[in-house]
Amino acid sequence: MDRRFQIQTRLQELRGLIQESAERYQVKQLPRLIAVTKHHGLDEIAALIDAGQYEIGENRVQEFIPKYEELKARPEDLKFHLIGHLQRNKVRMIVDKVDLIHSLDSLRLAETLNSEAAAVGQRLPVLLQFNISHEEQKHGFELDEYQEILEELAEFDNLDLRGLMGMAAFDADHDELLRTFSRLRDLYESIRAHCKSYLRRGGEGFSELSMGMSRDFREAIACGATILRIGSSLFE
Ligand SMILES: *Cc1c(COP(=O)(O)O)cnc(C)c1O
Repeated sequence: MDRRFQIQTRLQELRGLIQESAERYQVKQLPRLIAVTKHHGLDEIAALIDAGQYEIGENRVQEFIPKYEELKARPEDLKFHLIGHLQRNKVRMIVDKVDLIHSLDSLRLAETLNSEAAAVGQRLPVLLQFNISHEEQKHGFELDEYQEILEELAEFDNLDLRGLMGMAAFDADHDELLRTFSRLRDLYESIRAHCKSYLRRGGEGFSELSMGMSRDFREAIACGATILRIGSSLFE
């Protein structure tokens, strides 16, 4: 089968599955799909864009930059998401190119993002990444640290905190996935309810819950995800 057609078919199927889960779990708002295009080339990405997929996610700066340089000439209003762990010495390269950073996982990184965003006169949309799977190697803040993190972040005028991001353990079963994603959803709800004073515009812009990948997006939808980050199942 033609590769473009194959990818576009997978995209249609995935949209159908997302819709189906949203109906099954009676979610109010259909989550947005970010197509995670790491390890995939421009032809494959173009197939997605031509089928109307305008939100693109990459996890590594070195891979993102050359793709961005090609894609930015396209007429569509593309949105670029940085979803992987970000090293502070790479921040300058991406700060004026990304629409949302999902992986703010330390206060030192927040400080660098803030100062580089200030240097280009922007307010940078970010999500706080929490380590919800309790795996040692996963990046992210611990859930019980949130209060002091919000306090510190409120000082950074050039960051715009839009919500939370988390990843489940790769080997988690259905029930464990529901528990994991519920932890992040509960934190999100509690920040929206009780931490308005730390958020801009009374928390109005704090509205994103980025969770769910190829193997666990159904559980993420059940737990109220607003953004799904899906890669491998688009390119199978
Ligand atoms: C690769 C990646 C994804 C997508 O994972 P798939 O299993 O390919 O859907 C989502 N989030 C992050 C942070 C990733 O690195």
